[in-house]
Parts: sequence; C-alpha cells; structure tokens
Amino acid sequence: MSKVIKYTVNFHITHDCNMRCSYCYAGDKVKASMSQSTIEASIDFVVGEVQRKKANKLVIAFLGGEPLMEKQQLFYIHDTFKKRLGDEVKIVGQLSTNGLLLTDSLMKELTERNIMVSLSLDGTPETMQKQRPTIGNSDYSKIMQRTIKSVLKYNPFTNAFCVVTPESSKELYDNITWIYDQGLHFINCTLDYSAQWTYQDFEVLATEYEKLSKWYEERCNNVEHFYLSSFDERIQTHTKKPVACGNKCSIGNNQISIAPNGDIYPCMQFVKPAHQADKSVQLGKVKGGVVASKLLQLQSDIIKDKPECSGCKLKDRCSTWCSCINYSSTKSVSKASPVACHHEKMLIPIVDKMSAKLWKEKNQLFIQKHYNPLYSFVAQAMTTYKG
Ligand code: SF4
Ligand code: SF4
Ligand code: SF4
Repeated sequence: MSKVIKYTVNFHITHDCNMRCSYCYAGDKVKASMSQSTIEASIDFVVGEVQRKKANKLVIAFLGGEPLMEKQQLFYIHDTFKKRLGDEVKIVGQLSTNGLLLTDSLMKELTERNIMVSLSLDGTPETMQKQRPTIGNSDYSKIMQRTIKSVLKYNPFTNAFCVVTPESSKELYDNITWIYDQGLHFINCTLDYSAQWTYQDFEVLATEYEKLSKWYEERCNNVEHFYLSSFDERIQTHTKKPVACGNKCSIGNNQISIAPNGDIYPCMQFVKPAHQADKSVQLGKVKGGVVASKLLQLQSDIIKDKPECSGCKLKDRCSTWCSCINYSSTKSVSKASPVACHHEKMLIPIVDKMSAKLWKEKNQLFIQKHYNPLYSFVAQAMTTYKG
C-alpha cells in the first residue's frame, strides 16, 4: 500500500451567512462570494500544489460563511477536482454547515458525491437562540429536528461542532447531553477563544466538566460508542503522547485556506472579508501563488519554543500547538492563548482522574477506544449493526 500524502484546502466560497453567531470568527457577513474566475484560478492553484507535492489524497473542506448559500459553486468545485485529478488522487469532500439550508434532497446529493457533512450546533434550542440568532428569525429548533434526522439517516457518524462561550458555560452539561440525545454521538467541542473569559467562568466550567466526566463514565459502562473531543482528545494526548507542534497541524505545509477573493491564508480562522483581513498573515493569492518568504516566516513562528510554556509539564498535551487557537486569542501564531492555557490546566486533571478510574475498573470500551488502533472500525460495525 502506498504512503498517504494528504493535501487539505479549506474553501471559503462566501462571507455571507444566514446566522449571526455571537462568537463568529469569520468577520462581517457581506454578500461576497467566490467569482467563477477565482474558482477556476483556485482549482488551478490547488491542482498544481497536489501535483507538486505528489499528494494522493485531497481533502476539500467547505467552510463558512455558510457554504450552502452557494451550493452550485460547492458542487462545481468538488466535481471539477474529480475530473481534473482522476482516480490517482482520492478526493474527500467535507462540508461544515449550520444546517438551516440542508434538505433531504441536498443530503442525498452530498452523499452521492461522498461529501461528509458536519453540523455546527451549540446545544439546546434556548442556547442556540441566545448565541446563534438566525436571519429572519426562522424556527431553528423545528428546522434542526428535521435536519438532524436527515443527516443521521445518511451518516450515523455525523460530527456535531459545538462552541462554548462564557455565557453558555453554565449550561455545558445540558448542551452536550441534548446534542447526544438527538442521536449525534460524535461531538467536537471548542471554546470561543476570542472571548473575555474570567476566573469565575472557569470555575463554572470546571463544575460542568465534572458532571460530564460522570456522564462519560456512564456511557462507557453502557458500552455506547461515542466521541466527545473535550475528553477524548485529552485522553489521546496521554495514550499517544507526545504531541509535538507540527505533528498534528499541517498548516504552512500541506494545508491552506482560500478566501472568496482568492487570497490564501494558513488556516480557517485567519480568513475575513477584505476590509477586516490581516494582511500580515496572508500567504499569497491563488493567481500568483504562495509567497515563499511569508511561508518560511510562518513555519518558523509556528515551531518556535514558547517562553511562557517553559517548564510546564503539560507541554506535550496542551492544545496551544493549534495556530488558530493562538491567533484567535493573541493575534499571533507563536504566543500561547492564555484562555487555552487556563482551560488545559483545569480540564486535563479532570480527564486524567476519570481515565484512571476507568482504567482501574478495566472498562472494556475505554480500553478498546484508547488502546486498540482498530477501534474506529469496530465502533463503525457495531453502530451500523445496531442502527
Ligand atoms: S453559522 Fe458559522 S459562519 Fe455563520 S455566523 Fe455562525 S459561526 Fe459564523
Ligand atoms: S498549559 Fe499553559 S503553560 Fe502549559 S503548555 Fe499549555 S499554554 Fe503553555
Ligand atoms: S491551525 Fe489549528 S485548526 Fe488549523 S490545521 Fe492547525 S490544528 Fe487544525
């Protein structure tokens, strides 16, 4: 079997969105979509990069604004890559959507093309109303009930993406369990790293994580196949350590983000409308390519040792190797996010305490999940069978 060489491109095909989330990192919602000539230039650029790097796997991730506001462009881009790269390169399509425009027939079209859908969903209808208002005040919970049913019909492993803000931290347990109870058992949870978090917020959050650790244990005892990134990622940094910067994050090497106007950025959180863009982190343009000196500077900034982390025993496990996290709270890729720092120092001990208990009890699901490299296949078979 030949070695997998992966190249990832995040396509931001529009800055527009039908929601107005309080924490949105994507900047102002302007009616600026990718023009046909920028689409063609972007495809030419990416095909060139795939060939130059001899990649045999291309991940095309469609990200916000809301990509389904430009679904024809989305399908055109995906289909053109298929035609241009043929069978030599495995194409993996990914769509991150708020789900408001996701109909059953659209799900069918996406599935036929093998485009995996992830739903952004912060929890209960009350939480969603507070931090994710829709344009035109659509009845969000009604739409979501229909949408969740539809996505799960096509893929029982659909990922849910949930953002925790200081305001919603006190409802974290309710929000996660609500998402889970809808049938979405693969939950990626992240903080709004750009928000003003206080020590009191973290105390509240710690109480919620304690409740979730009991909930996680119960799921393991009931042999339920699930994923909760807040816990599972931190268990993995223990079982598969060390996590060196650059091991997990491939920005600057095999990953780029393309803005609707064709500007190239290192990753998704750097992409903003032209009037808000930070040109210092722009790597180039699809018509002209990446500026080598900018790329070299970025790469050296990313791998730099962080003096603020010197001597920290959590260094190998901390999430501040993610440039997007650091940039969203410090506007620098090389400076550790203080929010992430407090969060890791609070959460890792809670996760470790729970893991030690499950390990001591020889919990079979926990051991399979975190020590059997074939676990995901086993889980898939079990879930499909049960489903
Ligand atoms: S749905 Fe996504 S792009 Fe739209 S406002 Fe919310 S976070 Fe921003
Ligand atoms: S926990 Fe804080 S000090 Fe430790 S590695 Fe992470 S960011 Fe650095
Ligand atoms: S910067 Fe963060 S989000 Fe972007 S590829 Fe790296 S780890 Fe992933």
